[in-house]
Formats: sequence, C-alpha cells, structure tokens
Amino acid sequence: MKKNNKKFETNAVRSGTERSQFGEHSEGLFLTSSFVFKNAQEAARRFSGDDPGYVYSRFTNPSVNMFEERLAALEGAEQCIATSSGMSAILATFMALCKPGDHVIVSKSIFGTSVQLFNNFLSKWGLDITFVNLSDLASWKNSIKKNTKLFFVETPSNPLTEIVDISKLAELAKFAKAKLIVDNCFCTPALQLPLKLGADIIIHSATKYLDGQGRCLGGAVLGKRNVMSEIFTFLRNTGVSLSPFNAWIFLKGLETLKIRMEQQSSNALALALYLEKNKNISKVYYPGLKSHSQYSIAKKQQSLGGAVLSFSLKGGKKEAWSLINKTRMLSITANLGDTKSTITHPATTTHSRLTQAERDESGISDSLIRIAVGLENVNDIITDLKL
Ligand SMILES: *Cc1c(COP(=O)(O)O)cnc(C)c1O
Repeated sequence: MKKNNKKFETNAVRSGTERSQFGEHSEGLFLTSSFVFKNAQEAARRFSGDDPGYVYSRFTNPSVNMFEERLAALEGAEQCIATSSGMSAILATFMALCKPGDHVIVSKSIFGTSVQLFNNFLSKWGLDITFVNLSDLASWKNSIKKNTKLFFVETPSNPLTEIVDISKLAELAKFAKAKLIVDNCFCTPALQLPLKLGADIIIHSATKYLDGQGRCLGGAVLGKRNVMSEIFTFLRNTGVSLSPFNAWIFLKGLETLKIRMEQQSSNALALALYLEKNKNISKVYYPGLKSHSQYSIAKKQQSLGGAVLSFSLKGGKKEAWSLINKTRMLSITANLGDTKSTITHPATTTHSRLTQAERDESGISDSLIRIAVGLENVNDIITDLKL
C-alpha cells in the first residue's frame, strides 16, 4: 500500500486505481490469463521478480491488484492478498503459516464451514486445535501452549453477536508469541479496524459486505508484508486465486461500503429496539443495544453495531418456523451481507450439523431467528415480520 493520508471515504473510491494507456475513468476489467512481454529479457526479469510487472493471473492481475490495494488502504494493512472465497482465505492462512504439530486456539463461535475445515482437514494434516469460548479471556490464556502459533476469532460472532475485546486478546497473543487473526466479515473496515487494535492478520469473506449485493464469491487476507509473503507463495503455488471479474465487482462494492454499513446498521438498530419491546420476544442479541452483555466493549471497538441481529421468540421451533413462513418480503436464505434483508433459523440451517448438546452450549436455541438487515425501509421490514 502506498502511504496516504486520505480519509476512508476517499480511499474507498480512489485508492488502488491503476489506469491503462486508454485513460478509462472507471477501473478496467482485465480478463486475461497471461501477460505478454516486450522481449525475452523482460520475460526473464518478470519471472525472477526483478521487474514487478504482471505475469499470470493465478497470482498477478491488474483488476485483482486494484481490489487488493483498495482493501489494504481501508484496513490500514501493508499488504492484501485476494482469494477465491472466504474459506480459501482461511485455508491459505493456516496452510501457509502452520506446520504439522503446531497448535492454534480458535473461538467456538465461528462460521460453521470454518469449524468443518478445522475438524475435517487441518486436523488431519497435524494441526493441534483447541476451541475456546470467544469472550472468555481466561480460557484463551489457559489454552496457550509452547507451540501455539495462531489465535482465530470472529467478532461479533454469528448469530449471537458475542464480542471479544480485540486489544486484550492481542496482548494475550503477544504474550503467547502467537499471531491474532480476526475474521472481520461482520463489521468490515467501515466499522472496525482490528489491525489498529493490535491484531496481526485480517481475513475477509468478500462475498458478504465487501460485495454487498450478493453477486460473487471471494476473500482476502491482510497483514504485514513479512507475514503475507508466505501466504502469497501459497496462493501462487496452489491457485486459490480470485477471478478478475469478481475483483472488479468488489472494487465497485468497496466504493459504497461505508454508506451501506452505516445505513444497514441504523436499520438494524431500529429493528432491534422494536423487537426488544415486543411481547412475543424473550431476548434480542445486537451489539448496538444497551442490553447487550458486552455493549461497552462493542462501543469501544466498533463505530456501529453492524447489520446482523438475532432474537429468541417465546416458544420453540414451531413458533420460529411459523414467523419465518409468514414473511412475504424478507429472503429466506442463510446468506448475509446483502442489500436485501435475509431471515434464517440457525438451529435447522447454519448450525444444524452441531449436536443438540453443542447447540444448547452455544446458545443456539430452537426459537432463535437471525436477520441480516438490508437497505429496505426498516418499517417495511417490521411490517413483514407481522409480530
Ligand atoms: C461466509 C463466511 C465465511 C466464508 O466465506 P465464503 O466466501 O462463503 O467462502 C467465513 N467467515 C465468515 C464470518 C462468513 O460469514
């Protein structure tokens, strides 16, 4: 990233732009697998890395590079590496930075597929994994081993919006000589800057709010140059690369990221306040509510509450399914990060692979509903819920 003193909004629309000889105003879409060289000498210099120009789109492409530079500017990172999905960003990070026998500490409250990746694959390759409660700093401390390499969290978590104090966890990671990774998917850099709070690495599923309109899959890893070099080598040798087309979509998504996150957070807060007063609802989980058990930490490290909330109804699965089935506008889908609001029943969808005991332990009750609030008028969302 070129050092710049511009503000977030400016970087979101201007940063990283690289113009071709045609002088296009909007960023170009470079759909090409390889790049041509003026002569054999230039080809050799490109391959050796002496000439930093483009070679092959598995690891270098102008559209992808523009997205990487722009996201790096927004997160305040030295370097960004874009990947084909959020999952491949996580895979690349752990494969590149760990070896068999290394130990990592992972929050229990992470994206379901991330749990599957740890339990079914990374463990098979010899990674020693300890799962702990996200906000329980004592458990993090007690789980540290001599060979602990990485800490991994999502904050706020899905769907109960639990939060960990990133600065405090970063201190613990330092103490353990481990690196703290934050999956910043729910807040995005528009609301939370984990690197500033002491985290070492940020992971994104660009599929969610960075795109913001539910079109493409993609991911990213961000951090210091010396950490990122291993991850770049992994990408170059394995091809978990982002398509230039998707990168171009995300570039455009970043331009409106802040105003979307602000408006969607404001809609989510209005909805949360409404739900909290409703007699059919027993509890609302949203970091922007004063009743949230970690409201003060949320206030300290997030500029707004984000766009995801959940709530438990009085009753059980029958009442939850009935509420979902009565909606006419909300999209019944497990995705989030879209301008269209989505509604889901975690216990029978995103968290259905957990056992009943695991769900009970993590608070995913049968009456819990998650809404990822979009850009519709919030009064229309409230009307559609027919509560
Ligand atoms: C969706 C998601 C992922 C996975 O991203 P994909 O782009 O779907 O591979 C990882 N972490 C979080 C928090 C997510 O919401």
